[in-house]
Amino acid sequence: MTLRGDNLLVEPVARLIEELGKLPGIGPKTASRLTFFLLRADADQAQALAEAIQAMRAQVTLCTRCFNITVGELCRICSGAARDQSKLCVVEEPLDVLAIERTGAYRGLYHVLHGHIAPLEGIYREDLKIDQLVDRVRGEPINEVILAMNPNTEGEATAFLLLKDLAPLGVRVTRPARGLPTGGDLEWADPDTLGAALEGRREL
Ligand SMILES: [Zn+2]
Repeated sequence: MTLRGDNLLVEPVARLIEELGKLPGIGPKTASRLTFFLLRADADQAQALAEAIQAMRAQVTLCTRCFNITVGELCRICSGAARDQSKLCVVEEPLDVLAIERTGAYRGLYHVLHGHIAPLEGIYREDLKIDQLVDRVRGEPINEVILAMNPNTEGEATAFLLLKDLAPLGVRVTRPARGLPTGGDLEWADPDTLGAALEGRREL
């Protein structure tokens, strides 16, 4: 989508509007407003934003064990001695780890799938970190796997598929209790509700 009069914009301005407009939740109007804000802002402010984006991309990688975002090889949770090594919580996205950490109700480890199964969108089992999950459950002293996918259709389908993989491995497989708003994302659930759902988890 473009705004009327786009051809009057000088190229660097049009380019930034276009790039910002590709971000989720930012339409052409907001992209224009942000661009003109940055144009009028102190040079330092625009520079700091550009550097923050570059540094984030250059420094942040995925934890080699749980695939959470990290700087360095292992994330802070995997390298933390105080975590319960017998519990593994499987989530769709790194933001879900933050949401669960905010509840304070969970002290185990995580595994980030980086998505959910959605054949209609062309996302299949091999696009997710599922083989890596099975390897971990085989090789680490884990006795409970909590499937904390989003409470929506894709999340349910992904949990069902994981259950088939995990059931033969002899671990307890649980799901957070009902009570999370259905259709929603874990990352937006309020910490008390999410904490209660985790504490009231049931075996599959
Ligand atoms: Zn990790």
